[in-house]
Amino acid sequence: MAQAFLEKGFLVVISGPSGVGKTTFCQALLKDEPRSVYSVSATTRPPRNGEVQGRDYHFLSEKEFFKMRDSGGLLEWASVHEWYYGTPREPIERWLKENRIVLLDVDVQGGESIKKALPEDVFIFILPPSLEVLEKRLSHRGTDQDAEVKKRLKNAPFEIGHMKSYAYIVVNDKFYEAYARVKAIVEAEKSRISRVVLPAWTSSM
Ligand code: 5GP
Repeated sequence: MAQAFLEKGFLVVISGPSGVGKTTFCQALLKDEPRSVYSVSATTRPPRNGEVQGRDYHFLSEKEFFKMRDSGGLLEWASVHEWYYGTPREPIERWLKENRIVLLDVDVQGGESIKKALPEDVFIFILPPSLEVLEKRLSHRGTDQDAEVKKRLKNAPFEIGHMKSYAYIVVNDKFYEAYARVKAIVEAEKSRISRVVLPAWTSSM
């Protein structure tokens, strides 16, 4: 529910090992929160079946990616699973000016870089109930070749090892319970006093 005064925009950085459900959380938030937008990353990874250029990722060649990075076009970038990924800077700056809530699905390296630059933003780590469950979810997802699944599983301990950099941790066992928590975090962060333009009538008090 909207409050009677202006609330500033902020970033919600969602990280966690591949297969934990980050995309599903972002999609659900996009439906529920009218002020939210999704930051579409740039990547050198080739598209999976069904992925759409500009909607899921900006799929770039290495040359294009490096050009964007070297001209300052990326807010952060990292090498993940042997591909490059990065967050385009321009839309983020524009959305924050428009007081939007910007959802980012980035790895822990990206999360830590953003935290250094923008520590007031919202950092949520999604943890699977166990590594076994993660493995099952990843192999049943059916979107990646076996080699890609293996790379993603191998990387899970690295991601989980960095979760203490995050302010919030949510275990994705039953999605609807986990999502209720993520939603509650975002809802609470909207009311953080530093993000609110206080009404004029309170200024003399
Ligand atoms: P996938 O190839 O499965 O879509 O993503 C692989 C990993 O890259 C995921 O952990 C995802 O969070 C991360 N990732 C996606 N976009 C970005 C980005 O812009 N920056 C960083 N640092 N990681 C990203």
